[in-house]
This record gives sequence, C-alpha cells and structure tokens, in this order.
Amino acid sequence: MTGDEHRALRESLGDLAMGRLHGDERATVEAHLQGCPDCRDELAAIASVLPALRSVDHDRLDHSPAPPPDLGDRIVAAARAERPERRRRPRLLPVAAAAAAALLVGGVGGYLVGAHDPVPREPVAVQALDPAVEASAVAIPHTWGVEIVLDGDGFRSGATYRVVVEARDGRVVNAGEFIGTGARPMICNLNSSVLRGDAESFSVVDAGGGTVLRGDLAAT
Ligand SMILES: [Zn+2]
Repeated sequence: MTGDEHRALRESLGDLAMGRLHGDERATVEAHLQGCPDCRDELAAIASVLPALRSVDHDRLDHSPAPPPDLGDRIVAAARAERPERRRRPRLLPVAAAAAAALLVGGVGGYLVGAHDPVPREPVAVQALDPAVEASAVAIPHTWGVEIVLDGDGFRSGATYRVVVEARDGRVVNAGEFIGTGARPMICNLNSSVLRGDAESFSVVDAGGGTVLRGDLAAT
C-alpha cells in the first residue's frame, strides 16, 4: 500500500465509523484495520467523539449567534455597578441618615419644622442617570401634596432643571425648578400637588428634556 492509498483509507475511517461504508469499500478498510494498529487507534478516536458530533444541530451551525437585544444595556448596567465607590453619600440613605439630613434641611432652610414634627420623612431610592450627579432625596407627605427634598451635587452649574412628580394615574405634575450648582452641594425643596399616596416617582429633567435623575416613590 502506497502512502497515498493509506491516506485515502484513513480518510474513510470517519465514514466507516458513521456506517456510511458498504460493500467492497467497507471490506477493504476492515481488512486494512486487521493489520494496522495506527488506523485502529484512529478509528477508536473517531468513535469516541461521534456522540458529541451527532448532538450538534447542523441547522444552527449556519447562523452566527445574535447577541441579545439588551446586551448593551446590560453591559452599561454592569459597568455602573462595578464603578469604584467614590460617593460621599450612599445612594440609598439609611433611615437614621435620612432623619439627620431632614434635620439639617430644617436647620438650613429655616422654615421646616423640627424633630418634634410628626410628619414622616421617607428616604427615597434615587438613580442618577448623569454620572456627574450624586444625590439623595427624602419625601415628605403633606395634606396638599408630596414634597421632595433633594440633596445633591453635580447638577451643571447655571443650568436649569425641572422636577416633575409622576402620579400612578399617569399624570406628570410640575414640582418646581432649580439651578444647578456644579460641585457645590445643594439642598432643594420641591413641592407638588400630587398626594403622597398617588405618587409613583419623580424625575429631574434638564433643559433639553433629558432625565438626569429618577426617584422611586412607589415603594413605601
Ligand atoms: Zn493504516
């Protein structure tokens, strides 16, 4: 047997293993295997991977797997989650810190009542969509509507921001405006006519209409 003949025979081992060889072809290869340990080893190797090959869905081999449509969002979210901690304040204020912040608001603002005031001040979970913005918020339910006390920095200096409260019934109600103070912290009281129980969320919107911060008022 020449080298070419042997090579051709080896190449037919796959067909033999898959049962595709018949008649004289099959007899020739099987006769060769009797005297060729190399080809027997090769056949054994082919047979060992056949179950895996059979499990491949050939229809799917023709398609490149498409990335899931939300992959980009998930990468951004993961990157944000892994961003080094550089916040001076936790994103979600613990209740005690929120109460302290509310007391501070009272002291600075001068017109909010003190700690004996029975009106509850709820810490609000906020999400800054502008990476420069760091903020926390407290919701205060009044008989005339919910007040948002926004404590933050990173709102662009001199830029005007609008705050709206989104009600459960879909209304989007103005709660006031403020001017960004850049890196200098600001504490801003924003009043809306949406009652606390009817409020779903609030948003801080920049002059271009982009939302830079959202607060969740649905969770109580
Ligand atoms: Zn051989």
